[in-house]
Amino acid sequence: MNHEPTIVHRTATVEQRLDAIQSALDERGMGISALVDELSHKAQEEWLPHNGARVVARAWVDAEFRARLLANGRDAVAELGLTLPKHHRHLVVLENAPLVHNVICCTLCSCTAFTLIGLPPDWYKDLPYRSRVVRESRTVLREMGLDLPPEVELRVWDTTADTRYMVLPEQPPHTAGWPEERLAGVVTRDSLIGVARL
Ligand code: FE
Repeated sequence: MNHEPTIVHRTATVEQRLDAIQSALDERGMGISALVDELSHKAQEEWLPHNGARVVARAWVDAEFRARLLANGRDAVAELGLTLPKHHRHLVVLENAPLVHNVICCTLCSCTAFTLIGLPPDWYKDLPYRSRVVRESRTVLREMGLDLPPEVELRVWDTTADTRYMVLPEQPPHTAGWPEERLAGVVTRDSLIGVARL
């Protein structure tokens, strides 16, 4: 008798396997395709760095909002009609200052406050950034174009499933007195992650 195990050749691509799972679930009435479409729509149309930029601009012009934002990020962004998923239990906003710079990462995978910052860029999810930004932060930032003077303290924050971070960049001096909407226009995704300054 032949006891050789059967060798299964998995030749289907990831996309083909995903399609197969999606079809199987749809056939069982689980409505997965509709859910995937809804999430894709939100990722492309609603979860954009402009949301975080609006929060930053408000914090720049309204000191009381800024204080509320630093005390409880979740509650404060709700004032602007912005929400986070339920499992993002805490939004911690990290205030940059002339001698303090914050940068965020997720050493485990790819977590961000994505409803405010947008879905993470590929480099954020890649192992080199995730592993190196905690060990040689200054070097990584320098490679990404941000050369911090040695006197600036660098703080690295590792995101978890239930605690999400957003950097509050410093307001560029030349934008003093600008209206809020115009201020939001200068805030970039990378500055919300902390790999760039404004
Ligand atoms: Fe993660």
